[in-house]
Amino acid sequence: MAAASIFANDFSPVPWWWEGFAPPADPPAELPRQVGTLVVGAGYAGIACALRLAEAGEDVLVLDAAALGFGASTRSGGQVSGGVNVGKSPTRRPLPEARKAALLRDAATGFGLFEELLGRHQIRCGYHRTGRINGLWAPQHAEGWRSRAEDLNRYASADVRILSREECRREIGSDFYHGGISIGRAGHLQPAEYYGGLLAAARRAGARCHGETPVRQVRRSAGRYVIETSRTNLVSDRVVFATNAYSGTYSRDVATDLRRGIIPVATHMIATEELPEDLARSLLPTDRAISETCRVISHYRLSPDGRRLLFGSRATFFPASERHTAELLHRGMIARFPQLAGRRITHSWGGQVAMTFDHLPHIGGGEGRFFVAGCNGSGVVMMTYLGHALAEKILAHTAEPVCAYDGGPPPGHALYDGTPWFMPAVGTWFQFRDRFERRA
Ligand SMILES: Cc1cc2nc3c(=O)[nH]c(=O)nc-3n(C[C@H](O)[C@H](O)[C@H](O)COP(=O)(O)OP(=O)(O)OC[C@H]3O[C@@H](n4cnc5c(N)ncnc54)[C@H](O)[C@@H]3O)c2cc1C
Repeated sequence: MAAASIFANDFSPVPWWWEGFAPPADPPAELPRQVGTLVVGAGYAGIACALRLAEAGEDVLVLDAAALGFGASTRSGGQVSGGVNVGKSPTRRPLPEARKAALLRDAATGFGLFEELLGRHQIRCGYHRTGRINGLWAPQHAEGWRSRAEDLNRYASADVRILSREECRREIGSDFYHGGISIGRAGHLQPAEYYGGLLAAARRAGARCHGETPVRQVRRSAGRYVIETSRTNLVSDRVVFATNAYSGTYSRDVATDLRRGIIPVATHMIATEELPEDLARSLLPTDRAISETCRVISHYRLSPDGRRLLFGSRATFFPASERHTAELLHRGMIARFPQLAGRRITHSWGGQVAMTFDHLPHIGGGEGRFFVAGCNGSGVVMMTYLGHALAEKILAHTAEPVCAYDGGPPPGHALYDGTPWFMPAVGTWFQFRDRFERRA
């Protein structure tokens, strides 16, 4: 007999977040001939930068190649925290103490800014500061996490503590983990609604934001920038590249220096069908967001209405359809929650995140040309904060760093030109190492 399908009849290969979410209005409008600042890329980073600039009275235009929010920013798992993933390196190379302290302090500042923006602009996006648990993948991971917890508490006020296996079992209805790390200053939200709220705030402040307009080329000319778009050419005093993992997707002639330091990696999610309420609650009784301590993590949470499990991971490092990634993710979900066998998948989707060789995001630039890039898989809070911080740099007309992430563009590598040819091998190696550590 054929195995029952894991797919619901109304299966859809788009983000579950888009159900019932009205995409931001983007009526056809003529582009201006001249603008003070052009922001390329309308994700969290580009919009947060535009919001701050427009609030300061700057003339700002944001253009995106795709529909507004179509990049990673409406596709994420919606988990938020203030620095838990900063500098997290699969090779586990530690950062110098002073650098680590500065990065974590600024990540915590970013979390404060994010919560402040939600309040100030009345952004309703189902945000709950539920806390988060990082499930201990292997017992030997506890040791490294003890010192990481100290750092996070000391520098980022993250309210981190180590959980025993029994304590973790009370948070996650699964025997999969060897314990956990509880992060108090964390939570989750509906990422598309957050995006819509941020965009509306930027527009209210005066920023013009349009999608479906790829920027094809940016040239320096007579102290200004000539911008070639798919619709028309315009001139701007400044350009901000906020293109993150999509930096080479729509034009190879835009942000070429950034592309050499950004490794685009696909990451995927699924949503289950509506579960019986008691079953859903038994999976995550405290409604926390969940991640893991291994290299190729799975992350999951309940939907804002508490009825579905939203489960994500880097399902594969090879090109794959949404159905195939759903099958792989479903396998991972059942390994953690065997009680979900037989429950079907209604949505499967993916998006691109930007990894960097130093595992850190970067902002910077000068002479009218700026960038914010390298979310490293965690950008709801971080890219909002860095877009805002970059705007502060622009407004201050300063070459001095405005935060610990302000420096040169993400470092490149001699063997890398922006095409991540090595990712299938590296990703598979990380998966192998994870499996090996768990067995050991
Ligand atoms: C499946 C998935 C799950 C995730 N889960 C989480 C999570 O739980 N928590 C978390 O913190 N982060 C998560 N992330 C990461 C997070 O979504 C990103 O870090 C964040 O959205 C990046 O925002 P951004 O503005 O830098 O980039 P994006 O939102 O990707 O925006 C970049 C934009 O640039 C545009 N662009 C590129 N080139 C051009 C051009 N030439 N002209 C015009 N426009 C251009 C693109 O169209 C794109 O819209 C997840 C990501 C994915 C894909």
